[in-house]
Amino acid sequence: MTRALTSEQNIRRLVIVGGGTAGWMAAASLQHHFSGTPLSIAVVESPEIGTIGVGEATTPTIRRFYQQLGLRDLPVMQAIGATCKLGIQFNHWKAPNHSFFHPFSVFGQSLNGVDFLQYWLKAKSAGLAGELSDFSLGAQLALAGKFSPPAPKPASTLSVYDWALHLDAGRFAELLRQHALQGGVRHIQGTIERVQKTDDGLVQTLHLRGGDTVDGDLFIDCSGFRGLLIEGALETGFEDWGQWLLCDAAWVAPSARSGRANPYTRVDAHGAGWQWNIPLQERDGNGRVFASRFLPDAQAQAEFAESLGERALAEPRLIRFQPGIRKRAWNGNVIALGLAAGFLEPLESTSIALIETGIERIKQLFPSRGIEPVIVDEFNQQTRLEYERVRDFIILHYALNGRDDSDFWRECRAMWLRGDVPETLRSKIELFKARGYVKRYRWEMFQPASWLALFSGFDYLPEHWDLAADRIPDPALRSSLESMQQSVRAAVTEAPDHDEFLARYVLGAQQESST
Ligand code: FAD
Repeated sequence: MTRALTSEQNIRRLVIVGGGTAGWMAAASLQHHFSGTPLSIAVVESPEIGTIGVGEATTPTIRRFYQQLGLRDLPVMQAIGATCKLGIQFNHWKAPNHSFFHPFSVFGQSLNGVDFLQYWLKAKSAGLAGELSDFSLGAQLALAGKFSPPAPKPASTLSVYDWALHLDAGRFAELLRQHALQGGVRHIQGTIERVQKTDDGLVQTLHLRGGDTVDGDLFIDCSGFRGLLIEGALETGFEDWGQWLLCDAAWVAPSARSGRANPYTRVDAHGAGWQWNIPLQERDGNGRVFASRFLPDAQAQAEFAESLGERALAEPRLIRFQPGIRKRAWNGNVIALGLAAGFLEPLESTSIALIETGIERIKQLFPSRGIEPVIVDEFNQQTRLEYERVRDFIILHYALNGRDDSDFWRECRAMWLRGDVPETLRSKIELFKARGYVKRYRWEMFQPASWLALFSGFDYLPEHWDLAADRIPDPALRSSLESMQQSVRAAVTEAPDHDEFLARYVLGAQQESST
């Protein structure tokens, strides 16, 4: 039996360091979960050190996150200037002017017990089928600029799709802050200048500028990239994944809306990276992510500024980052969350989703009766596996690129061709190519449909499929696929434009409630 790091029954004071998205998400959710127990929760936030101020595209799990707190979609959307997101459009990744879509949905319907992918592969190779995204209602709604919430009881898998939000990061943190404070969380404004540890190396007291102190039993480090406790005080170490993910900086700026609000995030590949566009109700969020080894900051800035033109609402701001993870997310009595735990570039909007799963893990493994090494090890193992699986999915976007116009893209592809990608990713790609089978690992955030969206988007398709798919004769296959597409088209026709949906249900409801 291993000894607990802390004596029994002493985790009663939880201190969250940082009041950015991670800090307030953790505070609101943990307060909700532990309300009525002896656990007290405090958030320490510096009025002098700002938040990162980006993080505006999400995955559908964000909605489950705030629903668990008792918050509903429309009021949340009203409060935080949000729009709807049905997926991500990737432009120029396979080749200049080529585009594909990664929806939050599955594709098609199985036929006679044969998985859709298998007979779609057969149909595609025989010229009987178009793109995989033709068989996703979520993708087709998005591309038509439409939005309607999915039916609660979908008639078939063809109408199964999910949606997320584009949100204003500052307003989202504010909403959660209010929720957490109403629930009883204590808010301490102050800048931590010194961290005092016990003789055993545990964090004990935070010393704030001005002389105040904050004691805790367990600390959640949400202090951003600096990792004030996990790194500054405990020197946990960082595992750099820059050998696989070459981008390490981003210019970011808001802009005025040009045209309608797309119900999807747009990510356009560029010479040495890519640029995002995130439509919010009152403005757009934009950022150009680039590899500084391949593109000087000034040139990236000039290209970014030119792409926004007169729509830019502020001077671009440069954010540097290092892709990778903290060697241990939980060390001693400190758990790192958000940017303090690690960062992968925002290509698939995974950071906030990783905060959500981190919070769930804290709830499930909360050390109510002392910090046992077995709990810490489990937490760290799950966290690492989850980050590694996200990492692999993001590397996939670069590995399969088909661009030949810059050293950056050639190097990304060469990395894969040389076999210099993580083994877990290599075997997944090879297995798909050999047999159209998407290998599953534990703690994967991205389900097979997401991998298929990428494989098919890059036209990286297997030559062999399930023999059983050959059982379906070509005419029957053609007519089944046609009828699926027709039903998708009919649902798209009926749905309102995304702008109309926002005006009628989100902004309209807001006006009604304020009159
Ligand atoms: P921060 O926002 O940096 O907050 C840190 C907090 O710690 C602040 O409140 C600060 O005051 C406090 N603090 C720091 N030092 C001290 C101190 N000494 N004393 C007291 N308090 C202190 N994620 C997504 O999910 N989707 C996206 O589209 C997305 N886009 C991104 C684009 C870029 C370029 C980057 C860099 C990140 C992006 N992210 C995205 C990630 C997302 O922004 C973060 O995961 C999220 O904002 C959480 O940040 P945080 O709360 O961990 O840190």
